[in-house]
Amino acid sequence: MSPPVSRCVGPDATIGILGGGQLGRMLAMAAARLGFKCHVLCPEPGSPAFDVVRRVTEADYGDKSALDRFANDVDIITYEFENVPAETAAFLSARKPVLPDPKVLAVTQDRLAEKNFVAALGIATAPYRAAASQAELAAALGAVGHPAVLKTRRFGYDGKGQATLRPGDDSAAAWRAVGGQPAMVEAFVRFEREISVVAARGHDGRIECFDVAENEHRDRILKISRVPAEVTPAVAAEARRIAERIAEAFGYVGVLAVEMFVIADGAGDAVMVNEIAPRVHNSGHWTLDGCSVSQFEQHIRAVAGWPLAVPLRHGRAEMINLIGDEIADHRKWLDVPGACVHLYGKQAVRPGRKMGHVTRVFR
Ligand code: AMP
Repeated sequence: MSPPVSRCVGPDATIGILGGGQLGRMLAMAAARLGFKCHVLCPEPGSPAFDVVRRVTEADYGDKSALDRFANDVDIITYEFENVPAETAAFLSARKPVLPDPKVLAVTQDRLAEKNFVAALGIATAPYRAAASQAELAAALGAVGHPAVLKTRRFGYDGKGQATLRPGDDSAAAWRAVGGQPAMVEAFVRFEREISVVAARGHDGRIECFDVAENEHRDRILKISRVPAEVTPAVAAEARRIAERIAEAFGYVGVLAVEMFVIADGAGDAVMVNEIAPRVHNSGHWTLDGCSVSQFEQHIRAVAGWPLAVPLRHGRAEMINLIGDEIADHRKWLDVPGACVHLYGKQAVRPGRKMGHVTRVFR
């Protein structure tokens, strides 16, 4: 457990950020706008966040002396990715407040623990079973049925560590394809649409949700978010309630995102939770230009103990990811009236790599 934050910090404070990707970069830019300084710790040379902060520590997450120096330099610590090693989080939280509390990481780093957590709150998920071995996989498929999705318990994102199993597919091959590591199996959901709620919870327990986003994936990677989602008011209200319930159950401080499936059931549409991200989220990038407060500023406000803003959307908003080679398209977007281009400053272009995004707001 982190030492409690007895007072709010800043705006002269230094915020430590674990992770130097585009989310860290956009967090640091939002923090700078409020007067904070940021110090980013990340092992990868040339990380996108390094370009926009006061201080950088390029060190491994297990490097205790670097972690110690980092902790001494900052007032509070937050993170931009959920795979912060548990030992790193424990080491740092003995020195400075780490927010959101690292206990959240223990749940969200493990897909099975996360599904168990959500199910224990009485929130619907796809039917699922643990699959710790190839033999367990066969039994899990028997229980869940086909088609099914095999997912590794840890280190899965953007569809990595996943395999879809259709009737007649070779489960041994799928088991090998995900690396033969502890996994889980979920029923394949024939969803109508995918949505997400980005929610912030402050020190005082107040929660503010951004409007529900509708997400279109290509090759399991987010391509477009549209806000508001085309769902009924009842579905939107239910989605927000679910995000609030999860934030409350964690005693969360900061921004989190909950990804959900909307499915047609007899009585109308229903919502199922797919995944929780204990951080700012790609489906919330529209808030940079489409809302009175961005998800990044809202996160900084929350962890600094500042009051949350009431988010007011400026209009119908759209966010388009520039993935891999699509980064070249940014030139076209520069000429589109009203389009806001965001580039992450990544040097190497790789297939599937998020290089930037574009937001558009339609009034
Ligand atoms: P995830 O890494 O769990 O967010 O999965 C990435 C994407 O794969 C999701 O956004 C869905 O489009 C798809 N997906 C994941 N799980 C399922 C499922 N149980 N049924 C159908 N599609 C899924």
